[in-house]
Amino acid sequence: MKNEKILTCDVSKKCGGCQYQGTPYQEQLKTKQKNVEKLLKGFGKVEPVAGMENPYYYRNKVHAVFGRERNGKIISGTYQANTHKIVNIDNCLIEDQKSGEIIRTIRDLLKSFKIKTYDEDTRYGLLRHVLVRRGFVSGQIMVVLVLSCPILPSKNNFVKALRKVHPEITTVVLNVNDKKTNMILGDRDIVLYGKGYIEDTLCGCTFRISPRSFYQVNPVQTEVLYGKAIEYAELSGKEKVIDAYCGIGTIGLIASKKAKEVIGVELNPNAIRDAKINAKQNNITNVQFYQADAGEFMVSLARQGVSADVVFMDPPRAGSDEAFLSSVVKLAPEKVVYVSCNPETLARDLKYLTGHGYQVKKMQPVDMFCFTQHVECVTLLQKSNRKCKPDSYVKLSLDMEDYYRIKDAEGDVKIE
Ligand code: SAH
Repeated sequence: MKNEKILTCDVSKKCGGCQYQGTPYQEQLKTKQKNVEKLLKGFGKVEPVAGMENPYYYRNKVHAVFGRERNGKIISGTYQANTHKIVNIDNCLIEDQKSGEIIRTIRDLLKSFKIKTYDEDTRYGLLRHVLVRRGFVSGQIMVVLVLSCPILPSKNNFVKALRKVHPEITTVVLNVNDKKTNMILGDRDIVLYGKGYIEDTLCGCTFRISPRSFYQVNPVQTEVLYGKAIEYAELSGKEKVIDAYCGIGTIGLIASKKAKEVIGVELNPNAIRDAKINAKQNNITNVQFYQADAGEFMVSLARQGVSADVVFMDPPRAGSDEAFLSSVVKLAPEKVVYVSCNPETLARDLKYLTGHGYQVKKMQPVDMFCFTQHVECVTLLQKSNRKCKPDSYVKLSLDMEDYYRIKDAEGDVKIE
């Protein structure tokens, strides 16, 4: 990207989601490389970060919180950093543009449908958030309207009016969130239009994504990331593979084509339901998915004396835990491929694994979150013959600021 034209955002200071707003992309990559190296260089060589050709408008999941200004004007966007004040956003430089348009259309429709936005303080009003997810390959679009109660007046006409402007919307879901909570989505979904989920294609497999399942937010870089993870595993077709923290089964299903069998484990029941359907739809029969805490599940596998050749692990930002890591050591797979969205917790977990008979072979950062400070990293660990050095697991206290932001790297949805 020579002579890069830098697009600028008017609200970046207030929003705070893009820490590298205004910084040339190549410079962002250099900074990320430096930061990752600082944390990981003790484990070996860090490959140069894989960046994007076009670092703008990459997010396939767009969230907007709705509210009103004092003068009554309806606004939608994000929370101002560390507050519950809403910053109105009309053009976010990292979010899918079509999804942004849909959110603005919803904002414009509210008045004529007499739909009130929800007020967190008084707990009065109906529309809290809108979430739009778009399958970049399939073109399918899901709109999730998060309401404080299950009744949307004139819901059919509302959907009709929305689809008149955006016929490309393939499904509309009403999600009920009636709690005083910092989570965006509540636990009830009512399908108003279409199938209630979208599908998308990654690395030759098709995936169903429902409103509450995790799906990587940068589809272009996800293929780079998964490609690296599969390459690192060097599967020959004979291996028994574990895909831990598997979400909707993406890594395990892609790996299954080159492995003997795959076991996937994930905590979120919605994601596991999607994963099982995804296996069927892709005619994959050598994968089993289990809904469980990954740590507890691995402990029980280790107790049963199960063996594995390769363990893929892709935990959330908080990283893994001692139950999980100590069971990995007991199962003693030849390779562990660790996909991490937080180099700090990765460093902590690598310290444990390298202290218990594993050696870091390769580390590849991938820029999944351009303009933000976050960076993803794939690490290959191999069982070594060195004697294990006993090393206790150190719990790292994460910077709570990370949990504070609504635009978390994982698209996580917590706010304090
Ligand atoms: N590998 C998947 C998902 C990665 S995100 C992908 O690439 O899409 C991390 C996943 O870990 C999320 O789906 C989250 O629901 C799950 N998770 C979080 N804590 C967990 C735990 N204790 N046990 C199992 N899964 C967990």
